[in-house]
Amino acid sequence: MASASPEIQQRATQLRQQLQKASYAYYVLDEPIMEDAVYDRLYRELEELETQYPELIVPDSPTQRVGDIPADKFISVRHNIPLYSLENAFNLAEFTKWQERWQRHLASIPDNFEYVCELKIDGSALALTYENGLLVRGVTRGNGVTGEDITQNIRTIQTIPLRLNLDNPPARVEVRGEAFLPIDIFEKINQARATAGEALFANPRNAAAGTLRQLDPKIVSERKLAFFAYTLYIADAEKSQPDNLQVPGISSDEFFNPTTQWESLELLQEMGFKVNPHRQVFQSLEAVADYYNSWDNARQNLPYLTDGVVVKLNSHELKEKLGFTQKFPRWAIALKYPAEEAPTQVENITVNVGRTGAVTPLALLQPVELAGTTVQRATLHNKDFIEQLDVRIGDTVIIRKAGEIIPEIVRVLPELRPENSQTFQMPHNCPECNQPLVKPENEAATRCINASCPAILRGSLVHWASRDALDIRGLGEKIVRQLVEANLVNSVADLYDLTVEQIASLERMGTKSAQKLVNAIAESKKQPYSRVLYGLGIRYVGKVNAELLANYFTTIAQLAQAQTANLAAINGIGSEIAQAVSEWFQIPANQTLIERLQAADLQLAKSSDRETSRQTQSLAGKTFVVTGTLPNLKRAEAEDLIKQAGGKISSSVSSKTDYLVVGENPGSKLEKAQKLKITQLSEAELRKMIE
Ligand code: NAD
Repeated sequence: MASASPEIQQRATQLRQQLQKASYAYYVLDEPIMEDAVYDRLYRELEELETQYPELIVPDSPTQRVGDIPADKFISVRHNIPLYSLENAFNLAEFTKWQERWQRHLASIPDNFEYVCELKIDGSALALTYENGLLVRGVTRGNGVTGEDITQNIRTIQTIPLRLNLDNPPARVEVRGEAFLPIDIFEKINQARATAGEALFANPRNAAAGTLRQLDPKIVSERKLAFFAYTLYIADAEKSQPDNLQVPGISSDEFFNPTTQWESLELLQEMGFKVNPHRQVFQSLEAVADYYNSWDNARQNLPYLTDGVVVKLNSHELKEKLGFTQKFPRWAIALKYPAEEAPTQVENITVNVGRTGAVTPLALLQPVELAGTTVQRATLHNKDFIEQLDVRIGDTVIIRKAGEIIPEIVRVLPELRPENSQTFQMPHNCPECNQPLVKPENEAATRCINASCPAILRGSLVHWASRDALDIRGLGEKIVRQLVEANLVNSVADLYDLTVEQIASLERMGTKSAQKLVNAIAESKKQPYSRVLYGLGIRYVGKVNAELLANYFTTIAQLAQAQTANLAAINGIGSEIAQAVSEWFQIPANQTLIERLQAADLQLAKSSDRETSRQTQSLAGKTFVVTGTLPNLKRAEAEDLIKQAGGKISSSVSSKTDYLVVGENPGSKLEKAQKLKITQLSEAELRKMIE
């Protein structure tokens, strides 16, 4: 096996240091310095390096611990039975592998094995000991072997019975579960802390852990921790040795004898514990997958935080057969939900020249899975952004993806910076046409201002062909590049002169595909005037402004001759946009372009059947916002109707909104509109207004 290169050795050392620092902040200070998901990925990376290069393993590596650092505020006690952590799976493929692994471990796979699925409550694990039915000890998980005795604090938790609800309790019982803070209580605590000028807790899990380790039980009591029980051990009467570290067999005590995890959970409930109600038993991997997928959204509505699903084999007999690895039970796994943040490395930084000439630096990343997609690049926006982040080639960065937004780099982990990291300088010349770049004083962007830069041309062609513009199917980035490189196209107007033979002459292009493309280009001549306007890519003229302009200046000749003041007078078109439009039409190359598009028969006027004269536009000058589900019209249809009648659509309610069209299940827009006393309309009322 090859030995680790100095770079890899350095990376492993840095990862260890970073993880140790993060663990300390998390477990001892209760003030995490990174997201759990980021920690988990870095941990995995270290684990993988150590598997590949075992010589990198050192005794104090975070991967060599069972649990984590017990703090020293309380008396340390040894657990009767170690508290193992859980193996993690971050997707269903890893989960399937886990099933294969536990099955390989057995001589024969039982026919009817079952899984119990439980929600993974994001709190702090506790081990509770009951003797003859009485709570005698409560201990934190600590490092899994020793934890802190916090019995006094635990006694304040209302959902933990001080005496088991049993007439004839066994001599010794150990119950494990998760102490947690419901989200609303967590928020109240943080509000109170903010008012008192105290540091805020980062999340409910850390707030719960911090609370459990409060020295004053009165404070613990006020904080209203809750507890869900999930594990039950009944010490075997004969074998019971208070401090042995063996995992005892499940009791054959005559009193009761749960043979499955499900029965244990039921029994815990009978004993007086709160057990999470969303547990379920399944017979197949697919059913577990459905449960996991369904909770990904549904968990947002729970009053407490969950970060995954814990899947356990149901049969205690099977569990005993499988036992434990050094760190985990083989019979359970935590199936975690995809995170919105992940660490990855910047492999290079390049720049991209867009259709407006803006030169945008791009980070090329080591591919990383994030919220269900593989991310390989992230925008670095501009020079100032790079300097603020201090991001360098080779750096480990945290990227975030929230909702549908393109991933962005949120910060750098400087501790993981390699010695050979490189800073990035914006180029002085355009990487595409080699002309000097400019950075206007009042703008963040650096620009190429060469009108014949091939990158700008390619960008404008791609924009012209895009779905909201001329919608030319089959004219993507790759073919555009080929057409420009073959010098077949120098402006969008050239597209309409292309022949099948010319296109077929491009590499990997057959006559059939060439014919299809020529047809698609010809078809685009039918696209309405407003789309042509949008496709021209005039600065600030997006879809909405293009429609507005097309409504007021129904032919392109009118628009080209419009006075800047007249353009600016349109509700929604400000002076900046008006200026940009006027300037665009003054440029001779653009005038030639319009003439050529006219000659090619594109729609440069509003078609008469769709045309509505300005006088009959009943909603002219009014701004509308649509919210909720309307009885008959889809949102987009309602918006189209409004626009055709001269109204303007806005996506958010403000004092400039004239009407709010309200359907069923309206969002927060309704509240805002009520506050601002904006007139509300039903779909029927809207139709009446239009008529
Ligand atoms: P874990 O949280 O991934 O999973 C094990 C834990 O799940 C158990 O100890 C238990 O507390 C909990 N759990 C919740 N519901 C359960 C159920 N129904 N059945 C069984 N267990 C249940 O692993 P861990 O070893 O406790 O802690 C490691 C975690 O701590 C990692 O997720 C890591 O991200 C986090 N951490 C974060 C940082 C940071 O800087 N953000 C630092 C160190 C550790």
